Amino acid sequence: MTYKSSVPMFWRLQGSKYRLVGTRCTKCNSVFFPPRSLCPKCRRKGTVEEMTFSGKGEIISYTIIRTAPEGFEKYVPYAVAIIKLDEGTNISGQIVGNNIEGMAIGMRVRPVFRRMFEDGDRGLIQYGIKWEIDKGDSTS
Ligand SMILES: [Zn+2]
Repeated sequence: MTYKSSVPMFWRLQGSKYRLVGTRCTKCNSVFFPPRSLCPKCRRKGTVEEMTFSGKGEIISYTIIRTAPEGFEKYVPYAVAIIKLDEGTNISGQIVGNNIEGMAIGMRVRPVFRRMFEDGDRGLIQYGIKWEIDKGDSTS
């Protein structure tokens, strides 16, 4: 059983599993995630520096997944959303938690550190960042 090829691009591109590290152009303040080494607006006139994103933001579109690809069956239902981060760029990610059915565009989300998938052949467990609906209180 292998499903490495079905792991979304976002997870494979993520430089750090523990932080959302992107870059920011110091000239025009554009932010990039995944990180870019060159600002497409400023090109060589700009300088990009590493920037860690809070991961907080709001949902701008989403799809609820009820039939999962191989390896993700145990997580259904879950949602894959485009999140507009507070820092000003969009990111795609998985939304988990008990509030999936009640989610809506415009809702706030916050990052959580969760199990991503298990490698069935080798018993490896991958962890990474997912999101949950942020109801504005500390309970989840
Ligand atoms: Zn720039």
